[in-house]
Amino acid sequence: MTMMVETYAEGRQRDSGVGEMYTIATLGSHSALQILKGAHDEGFKTLAIANRETERLYRSFAFVDEVITIDKYSDFMLLVPELEKRKIIIVPHGSFVAYLSLEDHKKMRIPYFGNKAVLDWEASRELQRDWLLRAGLKLPRQFKTGAEIDRPVIVKLYGAQGGKGYMFLRDAMDFEERASLLARQNYILQEYIIGVPLYIHYFYSSLTGKLEIMSMDRRYETNVDSLGRIPSQAQAGMDVDPSYVVVGNQPISLRESMLAEAYRMGEDVVRVSQEICGPKGLFGAFCIETIITPDTNFYIMEISARIVAGTNLFIDGSPYSYLNYSEPMSTGRRIAREIKNALLSNSLDTILDDSTIQHH
Ligand code: AMP
Ligand code: AMP
Repeated sequence: MTMMVETYAEGRQRDSGVGEMYTIATLGSHSALQILKGAHDEGFKTLAIANRETERLYRSFAFVDEVITIDKYSDFMLLVPELEKRKIIIVPHGSFVAYLSLEDHKKMRIPYFGNKAVLDWEASRELQRDWLLRAGLKLPRQFKTGAEIDRPVIVKLYGAQGGKGYMFLRDAMDFEERASLLARQNYILQEYIIGVPLYIHYFYSSLTGKLEIMSMDRRYETNVDSLGRIPSQAQAGMDVDPSYVVVGNQPISLRESMLAEAYRMGEDVVRVSQEICGPKGLFGAFCIETIITPDTNFYIMEISARIVAGTNLFIDGSPYSYLNYSEPMSTGRRIAREIKNALLSNSLDTILDDSTIQHH
């Protein structure tokens, strides 16, 4: 499936204005600023779809050419017929997954950067597990019932966003005591891995067949990341439960001897995706969410098949993107570069979801 095309290391010099014909659009949230700044820097027109609260913010940036305001992000589908008539390419991010249903996501026919077939494999925890196991990655153990629990676990509600609603349980007895809270809920019981959470941001180019590590972050979560600030003796009897709501991200650079493993994991995930989600597989930006244990093993919590918000730390590039580019290269800009390279080599179809390819 890999096609070799000439790529343009210095995007602006050889683009012959091809970007100006297209508008890159996204929902005004999550990593929209990064995506639209990157699109602008690569010579595209840019469109933010905002709501009443965010429209002034997006209008305040010179690189945002156009803002369309809707009442709430879930109204986005009402706008789709109008957007389908224009030369627009949608770059999805986490808010598309959070605010649009899987069906709506698939229904929209606006040219879409990415492969929607991956959405099914990502959305189902079982399919995702299957995918990651086939790629040879290490996953935390999963328990089917409370009685099976023989070590600390994290309870993950289905559809939980940003760590909200997760619960830490010490043992099977703890589970019994909280069982009423979990009644009638859909959740998984996952082994709690004690280690450093590391989120690795990748970009896979289906034009060149090459994988790049763009950057990395660790999340800052409340209140789990604050518990270490209170001595454990003082915590006894305080009745604080850890929670995992993400509030921000911190940059991190990985011990270099562990980088090869990080790269291999990315390659294996892409390879297996090409077997399970159609020949296009997973391409563009994605993130593997890991926890690293003292024996330097990576345990995988999850995969996100698109740009993640942790990349916002690196709008001006990261130490890793600097190794591949001698100019600031955010993940948002890398996406726009890929779209431009596809236009220049007449291979736009390669980087769009098949159901959104426009036949002229
Ligand atoms: P939002 O539009 O801010 O509600 O974000 C959409 C989704 O992305 C939610 O599920 C958030 O949990 C997730 N998200 C937003 N910002 C971040 C961040 N800085 N780090 C990690 N996840 C985030
Ligand atoms: P996720 O929804 O998978 O991004 O997880 C949100 C947060 O929950 C992570 O950043 C971790 O802090 C925590 N977490 C998730 N899974 C595990 C696990 N198996 N062991 C320990 N912590 C976890």
